[in-house]
Amino acid sequence: MIFFEKIVKSYTNNHPAPTTVLDDVTLTIAPNEFLSVVGQSGAGKTTLLKLLLAEEHPTAGSVFFESVNVHTIPSARLPYYRRKIGVVFQDFRLLPIKTAYENIAFGMEAAGRTDEEIEEDVPQVLELVGLADKAESFPHELSGGEKQRVAIARAIINQPDVIIADEPTGNLDPLNAWEIIKLLQKINELGTTVILATHDKDIINSLGRRVVTLERGKIVRDDKQGRYIL
Ligand code: ADP
Repeated sequence: MIFFEKIVKSYTNNHPAPTTVLDDVTLTIAPNEFLSVVGQSGAGKTTLLKLLLAEEHPTAGSVFFESVNVHTIPSARLPYYRRKIGVVFQDFRLLPIKTAYENIAFGMEAAGRTDEEIEEDVPQVLELVGLADKAESFPHELSGGEKQRVAIARAIINQPDVIIADEPTGNLDPLNAWEIIKLLQKINELGTTVILATHDKDIINSLGRRVVTLERGKIVRDDKQGRYIL
């Protein structure tokens, strides 16, 4: 269970008048939910995700992950907390000098997993994302859709409870975008909570899942089987 409680986030940036990016946001996300957060550019979607990752601190309010208040976790413990959340970005963020296999294995090495575990898990996850035959390819040898599959494989390799996907289809054509969404749905069906931030109207309207709409930092809609309405 994730709970954003009365979140206010303002940036001052040395200006006398702070900009309020999130304004009294209260949101509960149940385990195994597939939630889309939609809204125009600048609505506050990324800021909301950064608050969950404890990359930003709220100006007021609290974020709970299970029963833990995320912003009270000591910085030395944050890497362990963040391992519960896999993140996928619009621009893939793969390491260019590592192969698909190595990019995925890297996340396991960082988490202190053994060579045996890595050799067992990486091929399985490559299979899951449909890239068993691309294990030895470098990012520049992969299409956008394939790069995003590697990024998703890396995000799930340590079996996180939650996947955050921030505009994961932003650099993809509609066909590849839809393949990525289907993959996120499959991962959700296997038991992982998915939080998808997007402004892709067609994807939202076809998903038929819960949609939270942000407008200038406020939740203006929260629909169980939502459509993209702004
Ligand atoms: P979205 O993901 O919906 O496009 P963001 O959360 O990235 O929205 O940004 C919301 C607003 O917060 C924007 O107006 C943006 O300029 C502002 N913002 C984001 N990060 C910062 C920052 N570090 N300092 C100042 N303003 C910021």
